Amino acid sequence: MYISPIVDAHLHITDNGEWFTGKHNASIGLLIEQMDAGGVAKGVIMGLAQLNQNEYLRRICDEHRGILYAMAGFSPVTQELTAVRDYLSHEAFRGIKLHPRRDNFSPMDPKALAVYEEAEEKGWVINFDVFGHSARLPIEELRPTVFDRLAKRFPNLKMVLSHCCVPWMLEAFFVAKSNPNLYLDCSFIIERFNKTSVMQDLLYTARHLDRKLIFGSDFPEEQAHRYLSMAKIEFKDLQEEKKSNIFGLNAIQVYGL
Ligand SMILES: [Zn+2]
Repeated sequence: MYISPIVDAHLHITDNGEWFTGKHNASIGLLIEQMDAGGVAKGVIMGLAQLNQNEYLRRICDEHRGILYAMAGFSPVTQELTAVRDYLSHEAFRGIKLHPRRDNFSPMDPKALAVYEEAEEKGWVINFDVFGHSARLPIEELRPTVFDRLAKRFPNLKMVLSHCCVPWMLEAFFVAKSNPNLYLDCSFIIERFNKTSVMQDLLYTARHLDRKLIFGSDFPEEQAHRYLSMAKIEFKDLQEEKKSNIFGLNAIQVYGL
């Protein structure tokens, strides 16, 4: 079996290797080691606004040109777009990472809408963290149907919804199927939701919507090479062409790698 090339389209790193959980090593050294172990050709790093790390990501991507790309970390409620425009003109940056849960804002916040407007005009991709778990944000503000409304309001804005919007996996399937500009990434969820309906719905999505599903691990929350192995096992019965889309070609096309 040969799937080529493999892209891990959901990664995080920190300059000191420390990660929020205290349990994981988020260093660039370990990431490269695990990408090599898995045979991963390219990676997309999701910047996090609270780490103020865009300058660091630019340097790392420069050092790994053509291999690592980044999404600028940005919070529409605490920062101005001027903080990221310069980065987004750099070839390594493919768009913006928005994290409504971590940064406590609704995806429909007027300040966020202004970001989508400019992103649509300039061709920046937006990757949203979408996971139905928050102590602060009303959870319904994260439902896939919210992004369905955004996808229709900004039809030329490419959006990727991370973690397949668990627990609303099948709803995410329909939202992605309904909107040509909306994609899902399956980072973080494989194994954690083993033996739940999520895994059945993920497989269904892989079988019926392979052009909209993007592989990513969520390193350092997951070991990049190990997560890739688990995903390959989950998707082992798919046609080769579908595997190629999920494990690389979709990310290359959506993020313009
Ligand atoms: Zn993540």
